[in-house]
Amino acid sequence: MSMRRPMSLSISILLTLALHSPKFIQSQTQPSILGFTPPAAARETELENKFKAIPSPDEERRQHRVFTEEPHVAGSARNNELARYIADQWRNEGLEDVIIRRYDVYGSNPKSTFLEMVAPVHYRAGLRELPVPGDPDMKNKSISSAWSGMSASGEVTAPLVYAHSGNPEDYELLRKQGIDVKGKVVLVRYSNPYSYRGFKALTAEREGAAAILIYSDPAEDGYKKGKVVPNGPWGPEYHIQRGAITYDFMVPGDPLTPGWASVPGAKRIPVEQAVSIPKIMALPLSWHDAKPLLAQMDGPVAPDDWQGGLPIKYHLGGNRVRVHVKIEMDNSTQPYYVVEGRIRGAQLPDDWIVLGNHRDAWVFGGVDPSSGTASLMELTRALGKLAKAGTRPRRTLVFCSWDGEEVGLTGSTEWGEQFADELRSKAVAYINVDEATSGPIFHGQAVASLAPMLVEATRTLRDPSGKTLYEAWKESSTRERREAKQTEEVTDTNLADTRIGSGSDHTVFLNFVGMPVLGLQFDGPYGVYHSAYDDFFWMNHFGDPGYRYHTLMSQLWGVLALRLANANLLPFDFASYANNIRQFVNELSKEKNVWGQPPSAVQPGEARPSSPLDLTPVLDAIDQFEAAGKRLDESAGHALAAGALDPKLAATINHGAMQVERNWLNPDGIPGRPWFKHILYGARFTYAHLELPGLTEAVEKQDWTTAKQQAEILRQALLNNTKLVNDLNDTLNRKTAGQTAFQSRSDGIH
Ligand SMILES: [Zn+2]
Repeated sequence: MSMRRPMSLSISILLTLALHSPKFIQSQTQPSILGFTPPAAARETELENKFKAIPSPDEERRQHRVFTEEPHVAGSARNNELARYIADQWRNEGLEDVIIRRYDVYGSNPKSTFLEMVAPVHYRAGLRELPVPGDPDMKNKSISSAWSGMSASGEVTAPLVYAHSGNPEDYELLRKQGIDVKGKVVLVRYSNPYSYRGFKALTAEREGAAAILIYSDPAEDGYKKGKVVPNGPWGPEYHIQRGAITYDFMVPGDPLTPGWASVPGAKRIPVEQAVSIPKIMALPLSWHDAKPLLAQMDGPVAPDDWQGGLPIKYHLGGNRVRVHVKIEMDNSTQPYYVVEGRIRGAQLPDDWIVLGNHRDAWVFGGVDPSSGTASLMELTRALGKLAKAGTRPRRTLVFCSWDGEEVGLTGSTEWGEQFADELRSKAVAYINVDEATSGPIFHGQAVASLAPMLVEATRTLRDPSGKTLYEAWKESSTRERREAKQTEEVTDTNLADTRIGSGSDHTVFLNFVGMPVLGLQFDGPYGVYHSAYDDFFWMNHFGDPGYRYHTLMSQLWGVLALRLANANLLPFDFASYANNIRQFVNELSKEKNVWGQPPSAVQPGEARPSSPLDLTPVLDAIDQFEAAGKRLDESAGHALAAGALDPKLAATINHGAMQVERNWLNPDGIPGRPWFKHILYGARFTYAHLELPGLTEAVEKQDWTTAKQQAEILRQALLNNTKLVNDLNDTLNRKTAGQTAFQSRSDGIH
């Protein structure tokens, strides 16, 4: 297709654009997509329409059944069989270079777990999830009993203490009540508020506890929330939230190869030196097994906000109830398998868009991760079909099925470490889908530079409610913010979640490789996470009975991948990035009172607090980066609107723009956690997002020397990226100015 543009029209567009932001283009009637020339946008729209018509709810359901038929925990024969199944499917679908990569990693499997109360009465915990009417899969003999990944082995008989959520402040309160947990067993709840169970284990280990029991209180995911399985989506009496307690917030992946890949012959550190291996025993419990223990406990009555949903008074314990815990683990080296396949780009095969989902599940993995795996399989079928028919993306799409995500983000981390150098030169972005759907509420995450393209893509998709996905997303976000009593109104600028913590396979790509990442999920009431009840029955009755959100996920994932693969100029918005960084810095100053109060807020007669850290130079650098980003946005808008773009020039600009994310890496990492190299994005030990991690943690510790160093690292990175973006802008302007003379020669890239 050719859409040659008369010169006068180009100029009039240029003039219009000079007066308006590039977003103005969106209001034009002809299709407009960030990063595309008008003719390329028209072709892209046609392609996307073809693509979106392929994924079907029936196929999603069929694939979902394949993956949820049997338990498939990391390292199991079934999970490895599914790896071969995926590889076979991908080859049939026309994907290229399909390969199963093996990593020999320190795995974790239970031999036996045992818990009994020995005083004041005897109770032996069943540690099993009982079948419910209507769900034949729950009778499967290979459903595991209760166990925690990476638990230590051992045996202890000791008093039991109720430590609420198991966060450090909870032990503070116990101490104030005169309760010491040293050598004792602690019983904690999963989430009040949520924190990663590995952080609970580390906290208990630091407090000197002999073992930690983590149970699901009905107040959090059970009958206090609503109807339970089989009558509703919430967790029933016997549901057990399995999960690993690996200290992967220190360093994810194989604990014995921190920072390099567990390929054959790789150096391995001794187990004793591995910082991510817990030394404490851990066991998850259903409330069915926790209730008899809680009911017998003595000691002071627990505070009001420690009381849970069971019809008993919760006590702090520490004396009367004694429990006997015995855990035997087989924690040893075993193979994990990552499946990799690609659709090679027709024009830019060495530019990669990476897409991934983990395959391993605690049991059947109805939501986590098999909803995502089904969506991935429908995505590859659809894109494979187009490729077979001769419609290839311009850039290469790389698809990955990760293993051992549940154990320590293991497969993706090893793969990312193995190909870090290649990814740093070739990768445009990584798009992660872990749980595709547990309901209808969309959550979209993106590094701030890709937030605008994510929001834009949702406008072209139809939500099962009949609205566009964009409208549905905006409505649910507005509702959520109202419920959370947030006053900030939902706008296109703040719709996407740009605060990215850890807890899934994007971690290595963002924090170690320095790639921009996106994360997609549909959410809803979901009380059976990591339990056997998270299965095919649950999905067909509660999560997504019509498989319409699975289908929508395949469509959205594909549209984003195709846009990144086909764009003339990659749709990075660095002005938006700068704006986000400014917000992070301002929040840090405000929340941590880095500057003290501004003069206007200081009452007369009150001394102005001292300012241990001056962030003005950082804010100045952010202003410069924002200005550079705006200029590049405008130049890119002009170049694209002109309809023609020299492919070599576009490649120069794109490869330069890809380096911006890499420049946020500090090779030394953040203080204390050298593996985590990104200076804007990090995660707390709880997995919660942590912006400006090195700087923020230093400020929180009031370690002003480190804080000043971290602020300077941030300022330097901002200046480097400002220079890079300014140079790109100069190149683009110089070349496009020279190009207009013979513009009629070509209509650009196809
Ligand atoms: Zn998952």
